[in-house]
Amino acid sequence: DTQAAENYISQVFETIKQRNPNETEFHQAVKEIFDSLVPVFAKNPKYMEHGILERMAEPERVISFQVPWVDDEGKVQVNRGFRVQFNSAIGPYKGGLRFHPSVNASIIKFLGFEQIFKNSLTGLPIGGGKGGSDFDPKGKSDGEVMRFTQSFMTELAKHIGPDIDVPAGDIGVGPREIGYMFGQYKKMQKGFEAGVLTGKGLDYGGSLTRKEATGYGTVYFVEEMLKDKNLTFNGSTVVVSGSGNVSIYAIEKASELGATVVACSDSNGYIYDKNGIDIDTVRRLKEVERKRISEYVEEHPDAEYHENCTDIWMIPCDIALPCATQNEIDANAAKILVANDVKAVGEGANMPCTLEAISIFQDKGVLFGPAKAVNAGGVAVSALEMSQNSMRLSWTFAEVDAKLKDIMTTIYRNSVKAAEEYGEPDNLVLGANIAGFLKVADAMVEQGV
Ligand code: GLU
Repeated sequence: DTQAAENYISQVFETIKQRNPNETEFHQAVKEIFDSLVPVFAKNPKYMEHGILERMAEPERVISFQVPWVDDEGKVQVNRGFRVQFNSAIGPYKGGLRFHPSVNASIIKFLGFEQIFKNSLTGLPIGGGKGGSDFDPKGKSDGEVMRFTQSFMTELAKHIGPDIDVPAGDIGVGPREIGYMFGQYKKMQKGFEAGVLTGKGLDYGGSLTRKEATGYGTVYFVEEMLKDKNLTFNGSTVVVSGSGNVSIYAIEKASELGATVVACSDSNGYIYDKNGIDIDTVRRLKEVERKRISEYVEEHPDAEYHENCTDIWMIPCDIALPCATQNEIDANAAKILVANDVKAVGEGANMPCTLEAISIFQDKGVLFGPAKAVNAGGVAVSALEMSQNSMRLSWTFAEVDAKLKDIMTTIYRNSVKAAEEYGEPDNLVLGANIAGFLKVADAMVEQGV
């Protein structure tokens, strides 16, 4: 019954808070999942009997290591490296690596925990993991990034493998870093193990459409969500935060579908271009030249640059796609978006909305697509990259894109179905959490303690 489920869940949550003091991001991610699971546990007490929640919220393995490297001045630097191998019930650990000064145990645990459910939702056989370092790639030379990354991989290599744990990129880790890591890993092995990392370059085992996958997948998911309410991207005004890999391809796909994307940002500020963001400029500035987004206005004098990136949510829009980082939309930003009549919010980043912000959207009837479902396209195509590596072949762009679209549609349908089954048809947070949970939980029950 509901009371027993509530008691069990809140007891487990208390234990987690005690065991992981001050890890606020991790607590936030756990709370969101746990709140959704009350009706599941009320209906299926077997999950309580098998201790599923305690086991899911405790990583199977946490690896924390030292990453020493020498900077361009010849000075020794030391960073912290992490890999959290959270859950392997349905496949090898899978999840990105984040290089950002904010990285700590709490951030990696929240990301790794979410990855369990996201990966399950893709329908592909991948478990949940995440890693990273507090290394700040900003302002570092190419040589420094290479030396740091090689040192990072020298330790990480002991813990990963194509059937063990398969890292990929996340914030601060793109094709350059994946290339250096793959090179270092290869030197340490006897053979060419293509499937050990995903997001690789196309000339050494990468998959077409991987680069675009998270951004395109975000738009495909939101398109489905809009379609159900007779809305479309065509003719809408869209704001996309960030200007990294997720944002760039979300902007590209939304524009292709007829939307006008009027703003994007980086950690310093945002640009507003009422004519629609010129994606070629953003891509060149960020992917090739590694410059700040403020440079955009030099080439597009009609556009405006504003400092303070979170003010981007003050721009009126029909569709908001937060694609930058965690907790970038708080209650205040959510209220402004609602007051400006936003119709839909799709989380391209991981946990970009606070729990309060999500409740505001849901209370006001804004269509809300949660990160685990919306941004699952990236890791889904990573799993397709693993398949291609195992088969030693590569699919065309169109083939992978069609599979991605199909996966995103299925994730949407399965989330709606689970939400309906548990009595809240419009609550995709509930639906995605439950659908992602059930597959992993059942696998755990079947495999015993
Ligand atoms: N970092 C991405 C995510 O948050 C991709 C992970 C992957 O491809 O393994 O899902």
